Amino acid sequence: MPKRETKRGGERTPLSGSYDVIICGASFAGLAVARQLRGSGARVLILDRYEIGERQTSACGIPTGWLEALGLEASARQEFAELVVHTPHGTSRYDLPFTFSTFDYRELCRLLHSQNDAEFETAKVNGRSGETVHTDRGDVTAPLIVDALGWRRILASDGGYQPPDAPLSRGLEVHPGGDSDDLEIWIDRRYVPAGYGWSFPARDEQRIGVGSFDPRFHVKDTTVLLADDLERPPVRYQGNWIPHKLRDATEDIVFFVGDSAGHCLPLTAEGIRTAFYFGLRLGDELRAVVAGHRTRAGALSAYGEFVDGHEWKFRWMLRAQRLVPKLPARVQRVVIWLAGRRRFVHWSFRHYLGIAPPPESASPAPAPRRDPERLPAAA
Ligand SMILES: Cc1cc2nc3c(=O)[nH]c(=O)nc-3n(C[C@H](O)[C@H](O)[C@H](O)COP(=O)(O)OP(=O)(O)OC[C@H]3O[C@@H](n4cnc5c(N)ncnc54)[C@H](O)[C@@H]3O)c2cc1C
Repeated sequence: MPKRETKRGGERTPLSGSYDVIICGASFAGLAVARQLRGSGARVLILDRYEIGERQTSACGIPTGWLEALGLEASARQEFAELVVHTPHGTSRYDLPFTFSTFDYRELCRLLHSQNDAEFETAKVNGRSGETVHTDRGDVTAPLIVDALGWRRILASDGGYQPPDAPLSRGLEVHPGGDSDDLEIWIDRRYVPAGYGWSFPARDEQRIGVGSFDPRFHVKDTTVLLADDLERPPVRYQGNWIPHKLRDATEDIVFFVGDSAGHCLPLTAEGIRTAFYFGLRLGDELRAVVAGHRTRAGALSAYGEFVDGHEWKFRWMLRAQRLVPKLPARVQRVVIWLAGRRRFVHWSFRHYLGIAPPPESASPAPAPRRDPERLPAAA
C-alpha cells in the first residue's frame, strides 16, 4: 500500500471555525468550484483526507480544449488526434474533430489549486448536521457546503448507495513505464463482457485498464491480461467505482458536484471535464450568493435546475451503455465500422463534446466588494 501524503499524528491539530463556504473534496470538482470563488472575499475552506493531487484515480484523459480553457496546459503529457478502436474483428482508427490529452494528476491539481485563494486542510469528512461539517479533526461550519467527495457522497442523507447494487461501474488500471503513440480502446468480451479496456499513454508511462459497467464483474484478472497482451508489467494499480447515473444535485443545504452527483458520463466513463463543467457553474452560483446577488435557496434551485437540464443527455448515454454490450458481436462490428466514417465521427464527437463543452473564458467574474453584512444570504 502506498503511503499517502496527509497530516499525521501531532500535525492533526483540532479544526474549528466558521467559514463562508466549505468545499469537501479537493480533486477535479472541488478545485473547480474553489477557483470560481477567488477574489470574491468569501472565506473558503477546502477539505480533503489527502494533500492536493495525492491520490490519482483516473487515466487522466481529457479533451485538450478543457486544459487550455482552464490554463492547465503545463500538466499535459501527450496529445492525440486519433482514437484507435480494437474489436475481435479488427482495428479502426478514428480521426477526431478535436484532440484528447493525457495529463499528470498531481501537477494538474496543484495548478488548479494555485488558482484559488481558499484555505486548505487535510481532514477526513465524516458527515454533517445543519451547517456543521464533522471531520476527524473537529467540526467546522458554513452556510454554503459543497460535497465534491466522489461517489460515496458522504454528506447526503441516503447513505445506502453501495456497490454492487448501486449504479456504479468498476474501473481498474495499471501504470507501467513505457511509451506509445496511440490512444487505444478495446471493445472485446475477452477483457470485459460489458465495458471496455484502454491504453492511455502519458509520455513515459502507459495507463492500461479495464472498466466494467457491471459492478459484479471483477476486472483485476483482465486488466493483467490486457497489460500482458501489451507486454507491459501490471504495476502501480489504481481503481475506483465510477457512477453512471445522475443523482440529485442538491439536498437540504448541500450542493453536490462531480462523481458525488453522478456527473461522470455513462458509456465512456468520462468524468473529469463534467466535474469541471458543473464545478465552474456551481462556483459561479456560490459567488453570486457571496456577493449578495442570490440567496442560498436561490442558488440551490438554480444549480439544481442547471444540472437537471442535462438529465436527458445522461439518460441517452446510459441507454447506449446498456444497449451496446447486448448487441451480437457481428452487429457491434458493423456499428463500429459505420461509426468510424469520418463525417459521422466528427458529427458524433462534436455532439459528445457539447454535453460539457469547454468554456470560451473560464475566468471568474470580477471580484465583488466583500460585504460581511450580506454574507451569507441564507434561505
Ligand atoms: C480507473 C479509472 C480511470 C478513469 N479515467 C478517466 C479518464 O481518463 N478521463 C475521465 O474524464 N474520467 C476518468 N475516470 C473518471 C474520473 O476519474 C472521475 O469521474 C473523476 O475523478 C471525478 O472527479 P471528482 O472530483 O468528482 O471526484 P474524485 O476525483 O473521486 O475526488 C474526490 C476527492 O474527495 C476526497 N475524499 C473522498 N472521501 C473523503 C472523505 N471522507 N474525507 C475527505 N476527503 C475525501 C478524495 O481524496 C478525493 O480527493 C476514471 C475513473 C477510474 C476509476
